[in-house]
Amino acid sequence: MKFNIKSERLWNDMMEFGQIGRGEDGGVTRTSFDEADMEARGLFLKLLEKSGLNPGMDAAGNIFGEITGEDPELPVLLIGSHLDTVRSGGRFDGATGVLMAVEVLRTMQENGIKPARTVKIVSFTDEEGARFDYAFVGSMAATGSVAADELQRQLAAAMDGDGISYAEAMRNASHKGGHFSRINPDSLEQAQIDKAKIKAYLEVHIEQGKVLENKNLGVGIVSGITGGEWSDVTISGEAGHAGTIGMTERRDALTAAGECLLAIESIAKNSGGSVATVGKLEVKPGSSNVIPGRVDFTLDIRDISDERRNQTSIQIYDAIRDIVAGRGLTCEVTPVQSLSSMISSAMVTEAMKAAFQEVDYPTYSLPSGAAHDAMVMGNVCEVGMLFVRSKDGISHHPAEWSSQEDVALGCEILYRTVAGLL
Ligand SMILES: [Zn+2]
Repeated sequence: MKFNIKSERLWNDMMEFGQIGRGEDGGVTRTSFDEADMEARGLFLKLLEKSGLNPGMDAAGNIFGEITGEDPELPVLLIGSHLDTVRSGGRFDGATGVLMAVEVLRTMQENGIKPARTVKIVSFTDEEGARFDYAFVGSMAATGSVAADELQRQLAAAMDGDGISYAEAMRNASHKGGHFSRINPDSLEQAQIDKAKIKAYLEVHIEQGKVLENKNLGVGIVSGITGGEWSDVTISGEAGHAGTIGMTERRDALTAAGECLLAIESIAKNSGGSVATVGKLEVKPGSSNVIPGRVDFTLDIRDISDERRNQTSIQIYDAIRDIVAGRGLTCEVTPVQSLSSMISSAMVTEAMKAAFQEVDYPTYSLPSGAAHDAMVMGNVCEVGMLFVRSKDGISHHPAEWSSQEDVALGCEILYRTVAGLL
């Protein structure tokens, strides 16, 4: 089978971007609007320019490239992912999908394809939320799934570890000039895409799990994406001397939190499908001889069924309140973000299946437990995703790896899927 796409060229791009923000442990750190992220953005704009793909940026910092269609009135086909990473992440999460989109459009040009509808690449701002603990900023701004004024408020309030607000980081980025001067946290409504003007959004991403590897398959079709909700929990008790205050007189925030964690685990285990995680926990004042007076922890609850997730989270919040009150302490639960589940578009899935048949590869569908920009896009348009096999299911880690062969296969299937949707 001769592929249309050029595997070597795509792989070289991926390895080049994989060097940006690469640390000594081999991990890549490109968090939103940091130095490495800005460098990757600059290189991406150059790549689009060089490829004749008409680069542009919007107020949220989303980067676009395109082949303009013969009929600009037709709804556009969007293909993309993200270039930001977690701290010390891999070279494949996000960048694979963005650079595949470039390869698909380059191949279309080389094959002399002049589409009726515009085919557009998008690299979304901040999918990971690693710097400001606030994710999906680009896709939320583009879809308006969080209203522009609300998003503006969130970005003014979200702080990084150095006390720089999200909005401030965006303003700093805009000072770079050129395309960057479009970035403006105070006019995010400008980033909103008219949903009537999108035919579909396609995204290729690494699987970040072992399902494809266990099936011995290089590429699979994503059937849907698990929704989730994220919140911050604060338990307040009373700090005190570890030696002088008796066990019955204590209001220890950490032991209360410990009981909460076990309850969270048990409720999720018995929910029939929800998963719940406390990934970050901070004890204050944080001294070996002081009874903890305050504990802050994050709570991440996900389920492919939005209804079941709602039930699970209500149970969890009730349990936390009961446990904390029973110990004479107080707690506060602050919702951070929530995203509905996304079911993949039948139209896009059919086009993908046809592409698999063309390259004579078995089709296999699997759900995504991880959230993606595609999930946010699912609020406004038809969405389809492909997964590329991840070695040992590892991701968000320097050892993250997908083979050149699997990446090429995924890109060829993407190319043929796009051809089927023009
Ligand atoms: Zn990703």
